[in-house]
Amino acid sequence: MKPKKLNAKLLWTQFEDVLAPRLGLSVKERAVYSYLLRHSLVVGKLRLQFAVMALARTLGLSIGAARQAVRRLDELGALRVLERSKSGHLAEMRLPEKIRAIRLHKNGALEAMGAAGMGVPGEASASSLETTDFLKTWALRKAIHDRERGACFYCLRRTPGKVRCLDHVVPRVRFGRNSFRNLVSCCIECNTRKGDRPAADFLRTLYRLGRLTPAELDARLRALKELAAGKLRAL
Ligand SMILES: [Zn+2]
Repeated sequence: MKPKKLNAKLLWTQFEDVLAPRLGLSVKERAVYSYLLRHSLVVGKLRLQFAVMALARTLGLSIGAARQAVRRLDELGALRVLERSKSGHLAEMRLPEKIRAIRLHKNGALEAMGAAGMGVPGEASASSLETTDFLKTWALRKAIHDRERGACFYCLRRTPGKVRCLDHVVPRVRFGRNSFRNLVSCCIECNTRKGDRPAADFLRTLYRLGRLTPAELDARLRALKELAAGKLRAL
């Protein structure tokens, strides 16, 4: 498949304004993505072959840092490593508009820009949101954490990065899915204590232990219903 002719101005704007901030790219990851893009899509090729060592040397990075950046870009869906061999990596690049974690954003500036020239399928968002596996990439997991705004979904305590995790409201053993309707950001303690119990029972336990006030319990039970109904959107 040959990529269509690129609008370089649009591509660069998308890269700087949407892709890099939304995927939370580090300076090194930005440099690697930008370099690989220059040698692929910008010159009309979808795929490119490169050696991590040469990439590292060109960008003034350590080999470990360059390898790490390629791996993370792959995980985020910004590129796909198709082959690793002695002669190097073979990768297929993704345009910002083709990166799933970004495309799913409902109100994203990318969609607005896409309408102006690159043909982003904005209407695909709602249905793909329903089928998205939110454990799949770092960006999607972050979207769930962002939705709870740094508080545990169950006990409402603040959850700094070290103590927060994602919990399946309906446990996987009971066929709970990795959907935004079934994943919440919570503290490790709640995640452990809840175990395979139904979430509503667990909330009532927190109330009995004095960890939630009656009003908070009501609000959490309501949030649980809204979550299942798909009203608490992630992304
Ligand atoms: Zn908690």
